[in-house]
Amino acid sequence: MTSTAALTPRQVSSIRRALLAWGDKYTQDFPWREARDPYAALVAAVCSQQTQMERVLPLWERWMAAFPTLEAAAAADTAELLRVWAGAGYPRRALAIREAARRCSAQHDGALPRDPIALLALPGVGPFTAAIVRCFGWADDAAAIDTNVVRVLGRLVHGDLQPALETRPRDLIETAERLLPPGAAGRWNAMLMDYGARVCTPRPHCEQCVVARLCPARPRFAAGASAEPVRAQPRFQGSVRQWRGRVLRALREASGAVRVASLVRTLAADDAEASTVREVLAKLCAEGLAWSHRGTCGLGDRPESRSATLESTAVKGDSR
Ligand code: SF4
Repeated sequence: MTSTAALTPRQVSSIRRALLAWGDKYTQDFPWREARDPYAALVAAVCSQQTQMERVLPLWERWMAAFPTLEAAAAADTAELLRVWAGAGYPRRALAIREAARRCSAQHDGALPRDPIALLALPGVGPFTAAIVRCFGWADDAAAIDTNVVRVLGRLVHGDLQPALETRPRDLIETAERLLPPGAAGRWNAMLMDYGARVCTPRPHCEQCVVARLCPARPRFAAGASAEPVRAQPRFQGSVRQWRGRVLRALREASGAVRVASLVRTLAADDAEASTVREVLAKLCAEGLAWSHRGTCGLGDRPESRSATLESTAVKGDSR
C-alpha cells in the first residue's frame, strides 16, 4: 500500500526512536548478539533457519562448545557434526556450516569474509545470514530480514495485514534499509526480530504497540480485519522428514556400523515402511549424511573412506 518513499524523515526518526526505546527494555540478550564474533553470528543465523528461537540457544551453545572456531568446524567429522546437531532438524545445515568454514580456509585465509558478495557465495549463506554476520560480527550497517521483520515492516510501513503474502520483497528490502539507523544495526535488527515475535505477532497486540499511531494497518485490525494465514507447515507425522529423523537417530545411537537389514527391521513395521527406510537411507547417503556399503551402514563418512583419505593425505605429505 504505502510506499517507503512516502515516509518522511520525521516519521523515520519517530519510528526509530520509539522502537529502539522498546528494544532497550525488551530485546533478548543472546550471546552472539554481543560477541562481535562473525563465526558465532554465522552459527546462530544457520541454527535459527526453520527453528524456533527457544531451541536455537541450546543448539548454538552445543555447537560452539564442540567447534568453537571456524578451524574446528572445518576439521569436524560428519558423524561428530550430526551428533552435536542431534534433534535440531534439517541436518544439512550442519554440513553447510562446515562447508562454509572449509571454503573460508581455502579462499579467505581461514576467516569469514566481511564483503557481502563474498559472504553470499559461501554455502548455506543467504541474505539473512549474511546480514546477521555483518551486523553482529562486525557492527556493519546491514538490515536482517526474517519472517518477524517482514511482518512488522510490511504492516507498519506498507499497511498490509499479511506482508509475507502481500508486500513485494523489494519494497520490504527498501523499507528495511531506509529505517536502519546508521551505526546501530545490531541493536536495531535484534529489536525488530523480537518486536515481531512479541508485539506485532501474527495476531498483533496493537494495544501494546509503541508505533501504533503511525501504523496504517492498525485501523484495519481495529475494524476487525484479520491476517490471512500463511501456508501451514506440512504435516510432520508420517512425513519423509520424520523418517529421516528416525533413521538418523538410529544411526547416531548405534556405536558404529549397523547391518542395513537390522536397521530396517528395527524401524519398519511393514513392507511399505521398509522401502521408505531404504529410500531415506539412500537419500541420506547421497547427501553425505550417512554411508552404506555391502549391507552395512552408518552415520557420516564410511570409516574405510576416512582412513583412505588420511592415508592419501599422509602420502602427499611425505612426498614433499
Ligand atoms: S499497530 Fe499493530 S499492526 Fe501496526 S506495527 Fe503495531 S502491532 Fe503491528
